[in-house]
Amino acid sequence: MEAVALSALLSALAMTVIVALRYLAVSGVFAWATRRVRPGHYAGLGQQIRKEIGWSLASCLIYGLPAGVIAWGWQNRGWTRIYSNPGDWPMWWMPVSLILTLALHDTWFYWAHRWMHRPAVFRRIHAVHHASRPPTAWAAMSFHPVEAAIVGLFIPALVFVLPIQAGVLATVLVIMTIMGVTNHMGWELFPRALVHSRIGTVLITASHHHRHHEQYRCNYGLYFRVWDHLCGTDRGLSAP
Ligand SMILES: [Zn+2]
Ligand SMILES: [Zn+2]
Repeated sequence: MEAVALSALLSALAMTVIVALRYLAVSGVFAWATRRVRPGHYAGLGQQIRKEIGWSLASCLIYGLPAGVIAWGWQNRGWTRIYSNPGDWPMWWMPVSLILTLALHDTWFYWAHRWMHRPAVFRRIHAVHHASRPPTAWAAMSFHPVEAAIVGLFIPALVFVLPIQAGVLATVLVIMTIMGVTNHMGWELFPRALVHSRIGTVLITASHHHRHHEQYRCNYGLYFRVWDHLCGTDRGLSAP
């Protein structure tokens, strides 16, 4: 029994270290790119960046510990509906489950995010994220612990319900990480032709999320603009 608890604990700690290294590596790469593409863009933001890194590393614990226990349970106890062999489900399920997972995560986040903008909740929880003015590449996980749980525990819970191939899940996590960083780094990574195309009216990139950090009560989505369009909260793009 003790050995079981110890191996689950080690998995939780290992996952936390992986999540933290992933954050430091991806944010570090895009912060470095920002210095090259927009020299001086983060000038005078040293104190804010230190806070962003502090909150983000605390979020790594909240993302990493449960994910590590679940990964241990997947490997050792058959927990979750994650499957390894792509042939276990029809091949069309792989792209469909990818889009579906992103759409469900986006739906969950949109409504939780609107709730977090209620004044009392904003003051207690979401103000931490909006203290980044303007946000930087280090703000991707700069959340109050309650918000970190809201954002970070949805997919670990979803894998108990929705069958998902391990590679598809890894792809979701890569998209989540890259979008989280690039949407906050203060400049548009994607070409104008894409951002201002028909696809751009659906996809969220830095130009869209930057406006949320400027104006607060609009552009609440995570990956897609669909809920913002449906609910009349989309106020278009800014030029970060
Ligand atoms: Zn943000
Ligand atoms: Zn917000």
